[in-house]
This record gives sequence, structure tokens and C-alpha cells, in this order.
Amino acid sequence: MKIGIVGLGLIGGSLGLDLRSQGHHIIGISRQEATCKTAIIKGIANQASTKYELLQDVEILIICTPIAAIAPTIQQLTPYLNPETIITDVGSVKQPIVEACSKLWPNFVGGHPMAGKAESGIDAVEANLFVGTAYVFTPTKQTKPKDVAKLKEIALSLKAVPHICDAQIHDRAVSWISHLPVMVSASLIKACLQEEPDTLQLAQILASSGFRDTSRVGGGNPELGVMMAKYNQEELLRSLHQYRDNLNLIINLIEQENWDNLEQILRTNGNARPNFLN
Ligand code: NAP
Repeated sequence: MKIGIVGLGLIGGSLGLDLRSQGHHIIGISRQEATCKTAIIKGIANQASTKYELLQDVEILIICTPIAAIAPTIQQLTPYLNPETIITDVGSVKQPIVEACSKLWPNFVGGHPMAGKAESGIDAVEANLFVGTAYVFTPTKQTKPKDVAKLKEIALSLKAVPHICDAQIHDRAVSWISHLPVMVSASLIKACLQEEPDTLQLAQILASSGFRDTSRVGGGNPELGVMMAKYNQEELLRSLHQYRDNLNLIINLIEQENWDNLEQILRTNGNARPNFLN
């Protein structure tokens, strides 16, 4: 199959690497010549260009740019496409993207591979990045079932697990397991930094695996965090408010020395946690 990939960073490049190794013909589009050269050298694409003309007969086109550039990129490249081309994206938020892009291209199907790592750009590209991870597609009433079937096939070929759901439900679920944890973890680091210097210094010396785990996502790429808040504002605020209610409940239990209820909450959480870990 001829597959186009626009944006040869971590996700776009890693998709190209795996799909090309399966024998698909990959056309990579980057804004920079140097990235195109790297894509060919690394085996990410069979052809790579800064021009959209190469995309004229691709069957599937995967947009792997930052969220803010997804709809504007589709708007720019549609004049070069065959009307049958299926366009999908990999953006971490779905509702605003699906709404904007479905208007630009009738064969648009939102997508979100739930894989990643802290590094970004073409140098961070990794083979088998999607193995064992969920790959979400968010079709609308207008989406053709055969288009979704084709995309599910692609996800399965990456050894990912395809999931079909509504874009808004996706954004709500992702807020709980990805966007809220970033804000909670960031608040943890910020609160620690407000401690007086001597104690803070000791805390930094004593910090070990527990703090490393709980602070990891809050100490990541600031642009990604802002993107989550900007494009998933409503769902993120909903989960943050519910989180704050739970924090207040725990504060009250500790103030009231209600150790039984506190223990019960912690016990319930301990039993529930494995359900979040695939
Ligand atoms: P990345 O490594 O920074 O790659 C994004 C690529 O998009 C850049 O390398 C660049 O490629 C291109 N690009 C950047 N700004 C652009 C602009 N203004 N207009 C057009 N193209 C632009 O980022 P990534 O982690 O692969 O993320 C890409 C998408 O995947 C995002 O929408 C993100 O929400 C989604 N996602 C990320 C993760 C994750 O953990 N990182 C996980 C799942 C989904 P060129 O230099 O080749 O043009």
C-alpha cells in the first residue's frame, strides 16, 4: 500500500519505520530537506520531500504534526490528493481535530496511537514503538466502515490493539489517564519547590523511586502540557475539579484522624490500580 506521512518526528517517523519494514511504500513529508535525507537514511520512508505533490496517489495519509498544525496542514495539502485517500491523524486530543478536519476532508478518521516517550523529533524514532499499545480511532456517522477497517488493519499490523470510540469519550478518558496526571504531577513539583531552602535541599537528597515515579510526567515537555490544557480544556477541568474534591476528602479525613476511612480508601485504590495497568 502507498502510505503518506506528514511530520517525521517521533510518532510519524516510528510509524514510517514499522510500516516500511512491512513492505508498504512510504512517502514522508517534512518541512526540512535535512529531515527528508535522515528519513531515507534511517529507512523511515522510500521517498521523502518537502513538497505535497508526491502525495497524489497515496491510499492512506497520516498527519503526525503537533496538534495545532493538523487542520491547517490538511487544508494546505488537500488540493494534491486523490479524493479516495483516507486521512487520519495521531493527535493526542480528538474532538476539536475531528470537528475541524471532517469538514476539510470527508474521508477523515481521527486516530491516536497511545504510545510515546519523552524524547521528540526524528532522532527519537524507534522501531516497534506501538507493540502492545492501544490505537484509538474515532469515526463519525459519516465515516465509511471500509475506511475504519483499513485503519484497524494498519494498527493490527503494528501489533497495536485498535479501539473504536467517540471522540469526546476519548478526550474524557485520556484526560483521566494522561492529562490530569501531568497537572497533578506538575503541582506536586511546584508545591515542593515552595518549601524553605534547607528542607528542600534535604528533600532533594532523600528523593528516590517514589518521587521519581510521581514527578516524571509533571517534569516533561511544557509545550505538550499546555497543548493538553488548551485542546482538552473542558475535560481536563472536569477531571481536575473531581480530583480536588478527592484531595479535600483526604485532607478532611486526616484532620479528623479518621484512620479507618482513610485506610479503606487506600485499600480500595490498591485493589483498583491493576485495572489501569495493561
Ligand atoms: P515531534 O517528535 O515533535 O514531531 C512532530 C513533527 O511535526 C516535527 O518533527 C515536525 O516534523 C512536524 N512539525 C512541527 N511543527 C510543525 C508545524 N508547525 N507545521 C507542520 N509540521 C510541523 O512530536 P511527536 O511526539 O511525534 O508528536 C506528533 C503528534 O503525535 C502530536 O499531534 C501529538 O499529540 C501526537 N502524539 C504524541 C505522543 C507522544 O508521546 N509524543 C503520543 C501519541 C500521540 P518535520 O520537521 O518533519 O516537518
